[in-house]
Amino acid sequence: MIMGPRDHLNGEGYRIFQEGLKITPPWFVKEVRLNEDRRRLDIILDFPKGSRFKCPECGCECTAYDTRIREWRHLDFFQYATHIFAPLPRIECPTCGVRTVEVPWASRRSGFTILFEALAVELSMSMNVSKAAKKLRISDDTLWRMLRRSAARALEKQDLSDVFAVAVDETSWRKGHKYVTFVFDYWEKRLIFATEGRGSDTLALFADHLKRHGGDPMRIREVCCDMSPAYIKGVEENLPRASVTFDKFHVVKAMNDALDKVRRRESAHCAELKGTRWYWRKNEKDLSAGQRESLERACLSGACKQTGKAYRMKILLQRILDASVGLHPEDARSQLKDWCHWALVCRIPEVAAVGMMIKRHFEGIVRWFHSRMTNAMVEGYNSVLRAGRAMARGFRTVGNVILKSFLMAGKLDFDFPRNIWNPV
Ligand SMILES: [Zn+2]
Repeated sequence: MIMGPRDHLNGEGYRIFQEGLKITPPWFVKEVRLNEDRRRLDIILDFPKGSRFKCPECGCECTAYDTRIREWRHLDFFQYATHIFAPLPRIECPTCGVRTVEVPWASRRSGFTILFEALAVELSMSMNVSKAAKKLRISDDTLWRMLRRSAARALEKQDLSDVFAVAVDETSWRKGHKYVTFVFDYWEKRLIFATEGRGSDTLALFADHLKRHGGDPMRIREVCCDMSPAYIKGVEENLPRASVTFDKFHVVKAMNDALDKVRRRESAHCAELKGTRWYWRKNEKDLSAGQRESLERACLSGACKQTGKAYRMKILLQRILDASVGLHPEDARSQLKDWCHWALVCRIPEVAAVGMMIKRHFEGIVRWFHSRMTNAMVEGYNSVLRAGRAMARGFRTVGNVILKSFLMAGKLDFDFPRNIWNPV
């Protein structure tokens, strides 16, 4: 079925397309072809002879010098895959030479309209990219390329001038053979930088990135990270005025791991420890009566004294670091010092190792009592990414992992025409 200017609609019928597509003069809808069998709608645009177009470089107006028919995939019109065709003019600008003009409905060199790209980005933010590609009926590669272009445009405009506190964390995949370091604007809770690797140089790259986007490494006053020597070195060298807070959950986790090692060591000789593995991970108040009883039985048994002792120490450490206890920073400092001393003399090697670790990183750990920063926000996001990664087989490259992370957590400002999405 062809709805041409000669049928009874007499051009009026195109107004819906003209307005829906936001086609502005000199462009007009010349013809609309609906192909029922192929479930396809082709919209053919044209411009009156002698129309003038802006030079994309200098803005001066020239008439078309020649044209080439181009095609853009657009949002589906109901069940019809919609394609736009237009004779794309080239102009001969007196200053810039021969240039292809830009059209209002698509970005330069894209085979999709801006609205289609906006929908593609929107879908890819909330679902895995392969799934989104299937929904849009385009290939994974095409979608990744489109996302890369849109994200690059958005990142170009990234403004980091008011970033002063950041959280640094890493994610790994391929069984720990590949790493990406993420830097978040702590208070804005958005991803601002990501790069492959987890060495100290990643923070040098971050400092450069910051400078390129209006930020200043000297203005970064707080950094929250884990106790990796590479990050510590990276902060010292590249963010010299920042105080470091070591994520307290890493400290508690180290203690939990130590407790687990002690339990495993002792369980070889102690029947009471059988089946108690997860109880030791819990807080005292979260234990059921039965669980509490089996822990007590284990603690009383001569063969597993150290597990019981390590558990007490873990509870105490958690209490010191617990925000709801609300210790004064000075009290916390002295209690943590006492705890380290106790750990070093308790004759449990696994716990002594935790004591050493805390001692070595003491200032960064107690910094939490001032900064109150943890990586919980980042870690929460990490688990989202892990889930996404498990679902998406499309993450073939580090670039894709980073891209998907920015879509999920970058709060990017895509320059899509919002007024079309949310008409006032
Ligand atoms: Zn020009």
